[in-house]
Amino acid sequence: MDRLTPEKRSWNMSRIKSKDTTPERIVRSFLHRNGFRFRLHVKDLPGKPDIVLPKYKLIIDIRGCFWHAHSNCKYAKIPTTNSEWWENKLKQNQKRDEQNIKALLNESWKVLVIWDCLFKKGKSCNISRVGQGIVNNVKFFVNSQDVYQEIYFEEQLIYSNPSSMTMKEEL
Ligand SMILES: [Zn+2]
Repeated sequence: MDRLTPEKRSWNMSRIKSKDTTPERIVRSFLHRNGFRFRLHVKDLPGKPDIVLPKYKLIIDIRGCFWHAHSNCKYAKIPTTNSEWWENKLKQNQKRDEQNIKALLNESWKVLVIWDCLFKKGKSCNISRVGQGIVNNVKFFVNSQDVYQEIYFEEQLIYSNPSSMTMKEEL
């Protein structure tokens, strides 16, 4: 018997599809080109993080803005149909993300969250600059005292990094 609501089913589908999203591939390829070695979708870590760099004890999590309810992001609007269900669903996702991050930090991992709005600038999104910007950020982050950072697209900035620096000049 199929107990899944249509919403639930489409959620499952998108989870499957999101395994190998383009932003993830971009990030992987830039990291690899720059000599970083990593493991993918590590099952025994909280949240099965996308990219794990054991040498630096660093986790990189690439998040879809909609499914992970990126706050103040234009790609994270709650659908008008069934809005209550969606709101609930997305809040749960957000909560789960927070718990995973806490668990990882408790296990002394550093966590870098990359929101996929960074890759959605349309014509003006220069992938090689964004990719290189991410690599520069990773290099900086692994040598810093910071344990948690997020990268996302914000208005005038291509890139914003609340706890350390903005990449505006470098991009
Ligand atoms: Zn976003």
